[in-house]
Amino acid sequence: MNKAIFKFPETTKTNWQDWHWQFKNRITRPEAPGLFLNKSAAEMERIKQTATVYPLAITPYYFSLINQDNETDPIKRQCFPDFQEILPDESPEDPLDEDSHMPVPKFVHRYPDRCLAIVTEICATYCRHCNRKRFWSAPRKISLKARLPQMIRYISANPQIREVIISGGDPLTLEDHVLEELLVSLRAIPHVEILRIGSRAPAVMPMRITPNLCRILKRYRPLWFNTQFNHPQEITKESSRACNMLQEAGIPVSNQSVLLKGVNDSAEIMKNLLYGLQKISVRPYYLFHCDPVRGCKHFRTDIKTGMAMMENIWRQCSGLSLPQYVLDVPGSTGKIPLNIMSLAIKKDLQKHQHFFDKFT
Ligand code: SF4
Repeated sequence: MNKAIFKFPETTKTNWQDWHWQFKNRITRPEAPGLFLNKSAAEMERIKQTATVYPLAITPYYFSLINQDNETDPIKRQCFPDFQEILPDESPEDPLDEDSHMPVPKFVHRYPDRCLAIVTEICATYCRHCNRKRFWSAPRKISLKARLPQMIRYISANPQIREVIISGGDPLTLEDHVLEELLVSLRAIPHVEILRIGSRAPAVMPMRITPNLCRILKRYRPLWFNTQFNHPQEITKESSRACNMLQEAGIPVSNQSVLLKGVNDSAEIMKNLLYGLQKISVRPYYLFHCDPVRGCKHFRTDIKTGMAMMENIWRQCSGLSLPQYVLDVPGSTGKIPLNIMSLAIKKDLQKHQHFFDKFT
């Protein structure tokens, strides 16, 4: 049994709840004693090579969610380097072709009415399935301070932009005052109606959601918060408290999961995740089919499997708990909804159509 029994520095109840402590004490070295056990020297070498290409970072909190008795633990799978990430893979590094839609460095404008500001390349925990691995594996380290005036000028000059998505990396690795400076600048642009933050903090470092952060975010509403829970094991007392604090500040919280082989590609697990999100009042918004991004091949299921799973769930669960299963694609077509293409659903529709036609 490969039990990860990594030992953290002295922990007290107070510093465990302090996000700076969590961030500072992230596990970042695969050779950290007790992290990988029962590995041969050759296997360890491959893990180290993987972490050289795609760095490792796991918060103590996220690490504590691992069930050490489960060899194939879904948390471990999402954050432990796996040599499969560096096997030959022809998938692109930038599957959504974001780099060709950057009028300003790290600022993506793919759809006319919204844009994406990548405000940092750092994350609290690096997700092995991330579709922006290219940013954090080889950070360009252009500071936000240096880019912000250009971003603001671009948005100001494009009145069709009504929504700005603040993402990364994880924007909640930035300090409160840096975030506030950004929010002030964006709110000063009259045509920006909606701000959106994309962050995994509620799942991987929920103590980042502090009363002060909530007070700041509240000042810049309408502000929407999208997070990423991928497995019911991530829904804990702490993550639920973090989401609740945001909601109490008037910030709607939605979830965008990624369909991941060995993590959530079973109807039972997905149903538990969706029910769990519903219980903490987080709206299941999207289930993304895993992008064909380099280094993530071992996470991808095929679309038919995903559609069959979603159909199974659709037949059992209330509509409030159903995310839209989508494929994100480059180009102007945007996200393609996959659930409505199911053959079985089409057959169902045909079967009932005559009833509706009769009254139309
Ligand atoms: S937090 Fe988001 S950007 Fe960071 S590694 Fe995970 S998925 Fe990628």
